[in-house]
Amino acid sequence: MKFKFWGVRGSIPVPEQEMLKYGGNTSCLQVIPDGCDDIIVFDAGTGIRRLGFSLMQREKINCHIMISHIHWDHIQGIPFFGPLYSKENKIKFYGALKVDARLKEALSGQMDSLYFPIKLDELTANMEFMELIEETFIIGNLKIMTRNQNHPGGSLGFRIQQGNQVIAYCTDNELPDEEPVQNVVDLIKDADVLIMDAMYDEDEYIKYRVGWGHAFFTRVARYAAKQNVGKLYLTHHGPSVTDDVLEERLEIARRIFPETYLAREGLLVDLGQTIKKVESDVEKSEIGCTDEVKFNFIDNKVFIEFPEEFILSESSFNFKHIFKGKHVNAIMFNFANLKRIDSRGIGQVAAIINFASKFEILVAAYSLTEYVHYLLKLTHIDSLLTIFENETQALDFIEKR
Ligand SMILES: [Zn+2]
Ligand SMILES: [Zn+2]
Repeated sequence: MKFKFWGVRGSIPVPEQEMLKYGGNTSCLQVIPDGCDDIIVFDAGTGIRRLGFSLMQREKINCHIMISHIHWDHIQGIPFFGPLYSKENKIKFYGALKVDARLKEALSGQMDSLYFPIKLDELTANMEFMELIEETFIIGNLKIMTRNQNHPGGSLGFRIQQGNQVIAYCTDNELPDEEPVQNVVDLIKDADVLIMDAMYDEDEYIKYRVGWGHAFFTRVARYAAKQNVGKLYLTHHGPSVTDDVLEERLEIARRIFPETYLAREGLLVDLGQTIKKVESDVEKSEIGCTDEVKFNFIDNKVFIEFPEEFILSESSFNFKHIFKGKHVNAIMFNFANLKRIDSRGIGQVAAIINFASKFEILVAAYSLTEYVHYLLKLTHIDSLLTIFENETQALDFIEKR
């Protein structure tokens, strides 16, 4: 596997003399797997523009763009990504599922005619949008795992695996404690390469930046050392951090973790040939196993009961025809049985809630496991419905409205 940095700056592009050695463009990383022609990209800051130029010779591309989160410095390059302007290209965007900020709407938002002359829908490439929760999915011969990170509004960290090699990409993630939380361990443990946000130094962090959603470089180096990482690349450099300051930081970080490097625009790193593992890279149980959702219509209410597993994967499920011709004034989600759901499954829950809010239908949920609680919070679905301990309480609430 190889990877290449196209943008390494945080917050805003800085085309300033004293920053140009490491680069002024905002976040964009390309991962180049062995034996796969698909273009794999993480974040679409202004760095993605030059990645686009490098692809213009190719007639047809299949491109996957994973967005850690939708802050400007991670999406602002999209309108300037050349391959979006050719109908031969297939481009799939991936980002966190948030019911109040759907991925396509968020990306269209920055290209609203108020801000930009061309709308997202007017781009001729074949576009798809895939919304993610914490899960593992497959692109070509890569296995990619996502975890939520500690950032205002949330952000996704990615663990990318091909054969025996692992790259962890964790940007816009605040590390408030010396010991990592489980999500961070899941992402970075034993990775060959860790690419991590190290925007601040400790002094700046403690004095001014607690709660801003970014890490300081000495703590990042200690994490890398403790979690048995191979090589650490510091990235998401602060917009006022000069090349000289970055190199001073590098020296200090190397005293903690000698295999530390600085992410630099244009830098291509080769991890060597991937050794294919004998066992399949994909756990079979992660695909398929769709189960039925039950819809019971009683007295203008619909009770939606989930099975133990609601894994839609690539299969389609559309609830809209179920509601046709029915008069409903309340939707009751019964989550009692649900133990596992994937992004497509939770996407359907979000779609039902979006539909309900359009027609001013009340929505209640009850009998949530800890897992479902966490998921609803992660996807902001919890803000759009009322949660009850059991069906009696939920019905009580609905009857009083
Ligand atoms: Zn950022
Ligand atoms: Zn951010």
